[in-house]
Amino acid sequence: MLTSICGINWGDEGKGRMVDLLSRDYDIVCRYQGGNNAGHTVINDKGKFILNLLPSGILREDVVCVMGPGMVIDLKHLCGEIQKLRSAGIKISPENLKISDKAIITMPYNVLQDIMEEDRLAKATGKPYGSTRRGIAPVYADKYLKKAFRMGELLNLDLLYKRLPDIVDWKNMTIKAYGFTPISVEDMKAYFEEYGAILKDYIIDVGMYLNKANAEGKKIMFEAQLGALRDIDYGIVPYTSSSSTIAAYAPIGAGVPNLKLDKSIGIMKAYSSCVGAGPFTCEYFGEKADKLRELGGEYGAATGRPRRVGPFDAVASRYGIMCQGADEIALTKLDVLDSYEEIEICTHYELDGKIIDHFPFTDVLDLCKPVFEKVKGWNCDISHCRKAEDLPKEALDYIRLLEKLCGCKIKYVSVGAERDACIVMD
Ligand code: GDP
Ligand code: MG
Repeated sequence: MLTSICGINWGDEGKGRMVDLLSRDYDIVCRYQGGNNAGHTVINDKGKFILNLLPSGILREDVVCVMGPGMVIDLKHLCGEIQKLRSAGIKISPENLKISDKAIITMPYNVLQDIMEEDRLAKATGKPYGSTRRGIAPVYADKYLKKAFRMGELLNLDLLYKRLPDIVDWKNMTIKAYGFTPISVEDMKAYFEEYGAILKDYIIDVGMYLNKANAEGKKIMFEAQLGALRDIDYGIVPYTSSSSTIAAYAPIGAGVPNLKLDKSIGIMKAYSSCVGAGPFTCEYFGEKADKLRELGGEYGAATGRPRRVGPFDAVASRYGIMCQGADEIALTKLDVLDSYEEIEICTHYELDGKIIDHFPFTDVLDLCKPVFEKVKGWNCDISHCRKAEDLPKEALDYIRLLEKLCGCKIKYVSVGAERDACIVMD
């Protein structure tokens, strides 16, 4: 049984929270793309955790976590994250964490490149990409240039060191062009040695491991970072991440390109949020935005940046559901709308005086205006509800309306950040 958990929107839909809950029925949870630009907040009986690189299944003792070849891994950050979780009492060992030998290593110079380019863009154009400045775009670029290092190379440092001096020379050409201090081979060796020594026992061929587990009937979940609209091909380029955030990529990025997904669960937020720059048609401004941001606690888990917010966007969500091939939806953060007497929904976009219902090309998005409709709110606390029957009629109507607008079954509704604050719909 292979299931993907992916974001329908711009990210931060609550994927980590849903993986933490739904992984109770799974043996293995794999992250298959992205790096430590992810920020998945999980709250359960063990405490509150913000996961950047580790799969959200790591908080369950009987779940094995896998970091797939599609990921980019900052060695120092991963060691720090493991350490932090250990000090909170979470057990992490090569028994329950397997790292792909084919996953890419994010280098300190990739982080530097990210910062240099964001600062250059800000100065030159006033429009940086809004990157998390954690080196993700540069390291994926190096991957496709075939100049990146892979986790498996940490097991053979002598071979890696043959390649290293030329890569350092080549990277310094870029760093000098930005007017920054060149990096040294020694510093890079120190990075590989310090963190390689800690991580080497975790590095395996995860494809072999997952194929064997699948053949034995184990249940495998794939956890995405970010959402459909941040996908490198299908998202709002260039305001996207640099990896494939969609479900179809999950088996490839996890190390099992030969396996097919049985189910795609899309995580969709009851309203919209978007961190960083780029077109965000349904965006609220001023007081309306401040109110929703405060109610939803919309500040980036990885960066602390205030997130842009707006009402539920049916146009973007329909597109996200298509990209993810979602079979069912988990609707999150419905409780955030508790205090509204009326709730707005962006049902369509207006383009050149015409109403459109498809999600257009990125440049065209800038010309689109949102068309809002209002529905009656429930205006009461639903955070204690655990069954569909507990929900007020207006909340049920809202769920049914979103289902109708999106053409996809809403199977789960979450009404709080804690693990059990979730309703399974009939
Ligand atoms: P992810 O990146 O998709 O895993 O999502 P984030 O963790 O970045 O953002 C989701 C935020 O909403 C986190 O702070 C969660 O603790 C919180 N959250 C998740 N589900 C709910 C919910 O149903 N209600 C409320 N009020 N908060 C939620
Ligand atoms: Mg997040």
